[in-house]
Amino acid sequence: MSVATITRRIFSALGTLCFPPHCAACKAETGPGIHVCAECAESAQRIETPFCQRCSQPFDGAITQEFTCANCAGRELHFVCAVAAYLSHGVVRNFIHAFKYERQFHLRRPLADWLAHTLDDPRISAPPFDALVPVPLHHIRFREREFNQAAELAALVSQRCGIPVSHALKRTRYTSTQTKLDRHERMENLRGAFRVRHTARVKERHLVLVDDVFTTGSTVEECSRVLMRAGAASVRVITVARG
Ligand SMILES: [Zn+2]
Ligand SMILES: [Zn+2]
Repeated sequence: MSVATITRRIFSALGTLCFPPHCAACKAETGPGIHVCAECAESAQRIETPFCQRCSQPFDGAITQEFTCANCAGRELHFVCAVAAYLSHGVVRNFIHAFKYERQFHLRRPLADWLAHTLDDPRISAPPFDALVPVPLHHIRFREREFNQAAELAALVSQRCGIPVSHALKRTRYTSTQTKLDRHERMENLRGAFRVRHTARVKERHLVLVDDVFTTGSTVEECSRVLMRAGAASVRVITVARG
């Protein structure tokens, strides 16, 4: 851990001691250990049925039976399902952005609270899983950001559910920002970007990949492909939000 990270964490801890707890979104006063006020928490939009069983893409309309969206239907996917707790809108989107790019490290707590809702989804709760695997950052990006947002969230979720974190993947190739690429270009860009670090920790294990946000699913798909090729029994995905 760098000196800057340690300093930031000390200041963050001191801040909690010196200032009354407040909502990270609207600054209204809250209680101890409460990072989001009730009003802001309520404005976060949970992903509710109907949605695609595979990628959790919500569907606007009346549909009662389980379905797979057109996007997933024609695609070979290596994860069983990707479960997101919230839509990437409003307070959820702002928190993810501030956590990742503005170094608001304390936001990992409300984000992990939100992420933990995915554990109640029957697609994740059964069959039980053996380890949480954070989507890794390349070391250059890690040096810029000083932390891996997925690893921080996985650590907090692991504390709650008692299932260990396994840093089973390594990002071996630095990929430029993917935001301007379409799905096919993203997949091409990601080929060979990840490698399994410990095959023994992957083999025959039921794994849950952890990331902050699911957008096109290209990153988690590439991670899943690599894990399955290394002999994982299954890969499921949890994210705080779905773009
Ligand atoms: Zn608030
Ligand atoms: Zn889908």
